[in-house]
Amino acid sequence: MNILVINAGSSSLKYQLLNPETQQVLAKGLCERIGIDGKFTYKPEGKQAVKEADVAMPTHNEAIKAVLDALVDPANGVIGSMKEIDAVGHRVVHGGEKFARSVLITDEVMAAIEECNPLAPLHNPANIIGIKACQALMPGTPMVAVFDTAFHQTMPAAAYMYALPYEYYEKDKVRRYGFHGTSHKYVTQRAAEMLGKPIEELKLISCHLGNGSSIAAVDGGKSVDTSMGFTPLAGLPMGTRCGDIDAGILQYLMNKYGMDIDKMLNVLNKKSGVEGLSCVSSDFRDLENAAAEGNEKAELAQKKFAYEVRKYVGAYAAAMGGVDAVIFTAGVGENDKVIRAMSCEGLEFMGLKLDAAANDVRGKETVISAADSKVKVLLIPTNEELMIAIDTAALAK
Ligand code: ADP
Repeated sequence: MNILVINAGSSSLKYQLLNPETQQVLAKGLCERIGIDGKFTYKPEGKQAVKEADVAMPTHNEAIKAVLDALVDPANGVIGSMKEIDAVGHRVVHGGEKFARSVLITDEVMAAIEECNPLAPLHNPANIIGIKACQALMPGTPMVAVFDTAFHQTMPAAAYMYALPYEYYEKDKVRRYGFHGTSHKYVTQRAAEMLGKPIEELKLISCHLGNGSSIAAVDGGKSVDTSMGFTPLAGLPMGTRCGDIDAGILQYLMNKYGMDIDKMLNVLNKKSGVEGLSCVSSDFRDLENAAAEGNEKAELAQKKFAYEVRKYVGAYAAAMGGVDAVIFTAGVGENDKVIRAMSCEGLEFMGLKLDAAANDVRGKETVISAADSKVKVLLIPTNEELMIAIDTAALAK
């Protein structure tokens, strides 16, 4: 079965054509600057990547048309015709409380996704545009929506409720939703396979550390808490997002500098995090280089990030009454041994001991804890596309 996985953003679109049974990726790529000056990247398996600038992509329709044309291209294509695409899996950021699992897209489902737009105004409308563009170009091909929030719908009320007036939950759906669910689900399933135990018997803490970062407590295969909240601004400090801060800071800074709420949120979303703190960069590679050259703010940003990761690990072990394994994944989690080591520092008291030699590794599925560590530490490269393709294939069959 060939599944086309689409991750549509407001001006970009990532895609991958893969077979979830063999896990073979036939082709993947990226459309960027949609509506601006259209950049197209296409990488067929085993062949040179094709990069084109100034591709006419006024809307997502032309972007998806370019993807389909590339996939069936006589020279660089990987399939004979569009009929060989059995189904399309769409990443959708917000499914609200309506979607606790992936679903086949119908008119009713589209309406329900649109109802979630106010909860993710930057993401869901773009996801919907991607779905509509595919529907227009591939009528009759089953489409599936896979939600970032769905995996976390198993959280108990004590974890997802905020201590705000109850009516804001009842009337306005203000609660913790959590994101990166597809990634947390994938790596925790892989962890159970690596540990050779049924997931139902495991307490796992999944650390998805990338440009956006979140941690999830997964007990018996179910998410019971996660660090992102009503929006992806909450929890850990991130590349440019502040993570958890005192809400009182908003009033203080807005009054002092005459900022309106949009300006304030722009600071919290785009100018904060490790970039804001370090005054260097949102990229952890830059932080590491700067810290090595003696830049104290860069070192502080690394320390702050790792400190918060460590606190969440401790908190989630407490929330679950124990932990069998801690997983590191995503750009930083998979590649940055310094951040992994700093995050695990001082956790020996709870039976977690990293092995420095085993931790000297990048992007490979492996155990990085010491042989006598009661809590295993695992490095597991995430694969959200595969997870989306597996769900899509199951529902399209
Ligand atoms: P997202 O999907 O949230 O955009 P990723 O999971 O791709 O982010 O992570 C991107 C981040 O990973 C980069 O900002 C960079 O800081 C970090 N990263 C990538 N490679 C390395 C590396 N070799 N060492 C340290 N950090 C890295």
